[in-house]
Amino acid sequence: MPLDFLGDLRRTHMCGELRAENAGQQVVLMGWVNRRRDLGNVIFIDVRDRTGLTQLVFDRSDNHALHEKASDLRNEYVIAAIGTVRKRDAKTTNRNIPTGEIEVVVKELKELNESKVPPFLPGDPVLANEEMRLKYRYIDLRREPMQYNIELRHKIALAIRNYLAGIGFFEIETPFMTRSTPEGARDYLVPSRVYPGEFYALPQSPQLFKQILMISGFDKYFQIVRCFRDEDLRADRQPEFTQIDLEMSFPQPDRVFEVVEGFLTAAFKAAGYELQTPFPRMSYDEAIRQYGIDKPDLRLPKLTDVRSAFTPEQLQTLQLSAELPVVAIRIPKIGELSRKERDENRPLFGERKDARLIDDIKRLEKSFPDAVAKLREMSGAQPDDLLVLVAGPAQQEAAATRPDYAVFMAAGQFRVELARKYADRHHAFHQGGFHMLWVTDFAMFEYDATEKRWNAAHHPFTSPHEQDMDKLESDPGSVRALAYDVVLNGTELGSGSIRIHRQDIQKKIFRALGMSDEEAQARFGFFLEALEYGTPPHGGIALGLDRIVMILAGAESLREVIPFPKTAKAVDLMVDAPTPVSEGQLKELGIKVR
Ligand code: ASP
Repeated sequence: MPLDFLGDLRRTHMCGELRAENAGQQVVLMGWVNRRRDLGNVIFIDVRDRTGLTQLVFDRSDNHALHEKASDLRNEYVIAAIGTVRKRDAKTTNRNIPTGEIEVVVKELKELNESKVPPFLPGDPVLANEEMRLKYRYIDLRREPMQYNIELRHKIALAIRNYLAGIGFFEIETPFMTRSTPEGARDYLVPSRVYPGEFYALPQSPQLFKQILMISGFDKYFQIVRCFRDEDLRADRQPEFTQIDLEMSFPQPDRVFEVVEGFLTAAFKAAGYELQTPFPRMSYDEAIRQYGIDKPDLRLPKLTDVRSAFTPEQLQTLQLSAELPVVAIRIPKIGELSRKERDENRPLFGERKDARLIDDIKRLEKSFPDAVAKLREMSGAQPDDLLVLVAGPAQQEAAATRPDYAVFMAAGQFRVELARKYADRHHAFHQGGFHMLWVTDFAMFEYDATEKRWNAAHHPFTSPHEQDMDKLESDPGSVRALAYDVVLNGTELGSGSIRIHRQDIQKKIFRALGMSDEEAQARFGFFLEALEYGTPPHGGIALGLDRIVMILAGAESLREVIPFPKTAKAVDLMVDAPTPVSEGQLKELGIKVR
């Protein structure tokens, strides 16, 4: 089999596959030079493909010309080699790699392509800086951890597809060039050449299309789909990201939960983890009262309202409100903090008008020994636990809509910050374990104090609770939505809701959001019309695939699990985007850059 006739040559094995039982076999391997070790008479070359690497041996005394050829090879050259698998002796066996028991004695070698000296090597033990990695992403992706992450992503997506297809869901595509219907974030716009001055928008999610698919009779839809949001940049956000998007006709929330639990179980299994189902559930109200946040991390103890440990007089002395909760945060095994540590932690609590922090329990104990004994008991605090209190100030400034929630939320946020800061002491985050949770019955509206109006907490297509319908105008703040989130270890994996399927109610919600009928018509007219043609009750959810893969890969950033991500500043360093475009292109589009 002469290698010059490469056209005929078939790769017979992958570089990571060979084992002791292949000894004696002739193999054809193709891949990259991962490393060359020149010992004079013998040259070792590790040839690498996506499955791993195999050691090739070139012995001068066996074949002088071949040995010469091998000495010309450099890192990341692409080669083909024919040779015989040989078992290594015990002394030279490499226990660190799966192919460490064998090597291939090469008979023929062909250099398929050379490589410039790369800015970093896939096998480098020290990671190059991220800008370099993103600019030379094709080299970065050759690294073993990246190959693992991308393969894992494929397996997870496949497991989800298989699961959903297996229970009757169709994967249906929806357009990327669509109409601008802001859903909370800013749209990315695509100018139309044919209609100068008019624009398509890239979808923030397929929300309205999937609802229209329900109206179209496709009662179980899903799509693993790219979404685009021009949001203010934050460390771990991508302008384009992937959702596992689904929608069903005639479901109760329970049915949505069941489907999501099913595909998450399949996805986690693809990564080698088992999930317990059903996931526990908690209403938004319980989440706020017990954890002070809508995405509780169940790995650490709950908050406890210890107000009853104090008498109203004591609270008055402490200048705390007797009407609002007194919330104990307990984090195990952190121990007592020094004064310096406490001072350093204050900024994590922040300057607040709606809540006060008491972080010196020892001092409190001197003045109120009975109360502190009681609150220790109520919160279940052990001697080496960190204990702090968050309470409402005696003097309320302006009456917030929910001053009690404000206290719980201040405590919840501080709990998260402390837990993060002292992770090495309490170890709750290192012990693994996936604590899944459904948070249900979110508020329908959120008050925007700056804009002085109500916004949809989830999105305006979410159905309010039947029982709260009559409060839409009189008391929007108390209207609960049939909306739910799935939460994992303090991170929101996805949100969804049962939707409004009646046009009159949809119009009411738009009105409650301060949208005039004309405005609603202008923005969502097509959808309001569709609702009039026999819309079944429907609901669904969307989960972030990138985040799920990140968690399952044990990665620190979304960029580790997206093949070609953008930087935190929304730049693609490899292709160098965004860029200005030519005057000609702009002219054709009827656009003038200001
Ligand atoms: N479209 C929603 C979102 O992207 C999810 C949903 O309600 O299904 O957040």
